[in-house]
Amino acid sequence: MNLINLEKILSGKPSFYLKEVRRAVFKKLIKDWNEATILPQELRAELNEKCPLDIEADILASDDNAAKAVLELKDGCKIETVLMRHEAGRNTVCVSSQVGCPLACKFCATGQNGFKRNLEPLEIVEQVLLFARILKQKNERVSNIVFMGMGEPFLNYDNVIQAILILNDKNGFNIGARHISVSTIGIAEGIEKLGEFPFQINLAISLHAPNNELRGKIISANKKYPIEKIIEAANRYLEKTDRQIMVEYLMIKDFNDSESCAQELIKILQKLKRGLFIVNLIAYNPTGIFKPSSSEQIKKFRQVLEKNGIKATQRWKFGRDIKGACGQLAGK
Ligand code: SAH
Repeated sequence: MNLINLEKILSGKPSFYLKEVRRAVFKKLIKDWNEATILPQELRAELNEKCPLDIEADILASDDNAAKAVLELKDGCKIETVLMRHEAGRNTVCVSSQVGCPLACKFCATGQNGFKRNLEPLEIVEQVLLFARILKQKNERVSNIVFMGMGEPFLNYDNVIQAILILNDKNGFNIGARHISVSTIGIAEGIEKLGEFPFQINLAISLHAPNNELRGKIISANKKYPIEKIIEAANRYLEKTDRQIMVEYLMIKDFNDSESCAQELIKILQKLKRGLFIVNLIAYNPTGIFKPSSSEQIKKFRQVLEKNGIKATQRWKFGRDIKGACGQLAGK
């Protein structure tokens, strides 16, 4: 797919064409411009030549619950994207925001091969379009988006926001802001900027450790964005939005899963204003180096949090069989 020249081709044409084109591509989900019968035939032919709508992708399906796609972009770069099917009607697409990732967190497969480039807004949207077309055949739609694929969304802030605007557009996918979540390693500037953004997008922060010493061992970005700085930015976000933050905490065996880690975590989280957060415990998906905590250990950890009045949930392990779970996207 290549819609980069779209606006250029449509400039000088009646202004409603652009709106019709958006509706055709993102709402009707056409795969060929000839399906956009509202446009004159010549224009359709030109668009088919210069703005092809076919998506280059290989789809790996595991079962009814998850599917991973590898998309090839026009410069040959490959990215991965995952569809998760929850209960009836809830379909979440986990999108990538970058090709590779500059953060190279020790527990995540994505950054191990380095970073290539940021994704353009339409390259982010294309990932959703791919699954939207597939779901349409089952009379279903994409209902939720999480920016939890490859890359750090807040290091590609503007393009991520542009993509969100397209996904949210009533004349297009019409995915409600409250159904869109952005996950960050804790880029303070991004957290604060999202606090100013006039849409109610959900924010998730990958904390993963209860102190800077442990966090620094697995997340090199902790040097620039240590825990105090993240809490400060999160508090400013909370003041502006009044929206609950999701605090993500990876459970790694014998590293950050002890009861004393839980106690330390509680102390940190008590600094978050208004108690507007929920902890999401994520069993580490194997990527080679560490081992996941046992379910009993996760349960114990969760109980310590809950006894102290902290809300906690556990993330469902979608897509492990297809190496499509969190942290397993390598773009190979
Ligand atoms: N850069 C963003 C989004 C990336 S991935 C961020 O850091 O939040 C989305 C989530 O998957 C993050 O919480 C990330 O820490 C988590 N993750 C990464 N590797 C993982 C692994 N091996 N197992 C489980 N979760 C992992």
